[in-house]
Amino acid sequence: MSKFWSQVVHDLTPYVPGEQPKLPDLVKLNTNENPYGPSPKVLETLRAEAGDTLRLYPDPNSGRLRQAIADYHHVTPAQVFVGNGSDEVLAHAFQALLKHDAPILFPDITYSFYPVYCGLYGIAYRQLPLNEAFEIRVDDYLQPNGGIIFPNPNAPTARLLALSEIERLLQANADSVVVIDEAYVDFGGESAVGLAARYPQLLVVHTLSKARSLAGLRVGYAVGHADLIEALTRVKDSFNSYPLDRFAEAGAVAAMQDQAWFDETRGKVIASRDKLVAELEMLGFAVLPSAANFIFARHPAHDGAALTASLRERSIIVRHFKQPSRIAPFMRITIGTDAQCAALVNALREIIA
Ligand code: PMP
Repeated sequence: MSKFWSQVVHDLTPYVPGEQPKLPDLVKLNTNENPYGPSPKVLETLRAEAGDTLRLYPDPNSGRLRQAIADYHHVTPAQVFVGNGSDEVLAHAFQALLKHDAPILFPDITYSFYPVYCGLYGIAYRQLPLNEAFEIRVDDYLQPNGGIIFPNPNAPTARLLALSEIERLLQANADSVVVIDEAYVDFGGESAVGLAARYPQLLVVHTLSKARSLAGLRVGYAVGHADLIEALTRVKDSFNSYPLDRFAEAGAVAAMQDQAWFDETRGKVIASRDKLVAELEMLGFAVLPSAANFIFARHPAHDGAALTASLRERSIIVRHFKQPSRIAPFMRITIGTDAQCAALVNALREIIA
């Protein structure tokens, strides 16, 4: 509280990211990072980038990266926007495309940054409850709105909405922007990017933090109609001309181009996830169907907060959300290596015994 703060700052409720503790030997399963490192080609590229050119500003338009992303998704660079992590891309989307008179719509259980952006930009919103099975009900979104946003798969539930349902949503919402946040789509979903050619109101947001294992590099992007991309670019060019530094652009290009590493590592995460789910179910956990690199699990006889605290005493950290209360029994657990998953299962077996 300071008399020097603007009213906006007084009124903010900032997002709280999962912690990044510096403790050694931690089994860190709390922020949905990839347990495998980035492509060796990325590391090679980053080393080569460390040179005299760092005295020069990077390309403000990140042209090479936008081309690499366009190639990957079979669109044009004019349909691609890049930013400093998908959080920044999302922030610009809220300001550029979701701020209108009518409230925007998103689920009651979803990425908790969305209401924070609404607070920052003064955007009215309505949160629509997931159903009993923690699924998004498209029928609820067939009402007047200033825009729609949700992750697919959703976070922290990990539940996937079928592409046919997203198309039904787009058909019924021709006059407002629909943002699909596909941070986790590469672990079991099909991207909606292919729908962008037919639905000019669709913006699909991706990150390199998860399936491409580059959370530390901070790169995210959006794909959509060139008019939507232009809106994001107008905000970016009124905010920070160089959101991606030279390392970020070069490393991200290498990551987008290494399909073999991408497929191998996400395949390993998916296999570990399926194994972990089976083992937790044997311990009596109920696990929501996951299409992500994390699972949402609860035990009928043990409280989510208590389990999280007991795991922590054993140097295993997972994420627990107190709100809304119907997700308080759950833990959100990032898929680690098989060894990390085994450590988790062993610890939980002891705790619930
Ligand atoms: N969307 C969702 C649903 C997320 O869980 C995250 C990760 N916290 C992000 C976007 C942002 O990821 P990043 O800024 O690392 O791209």
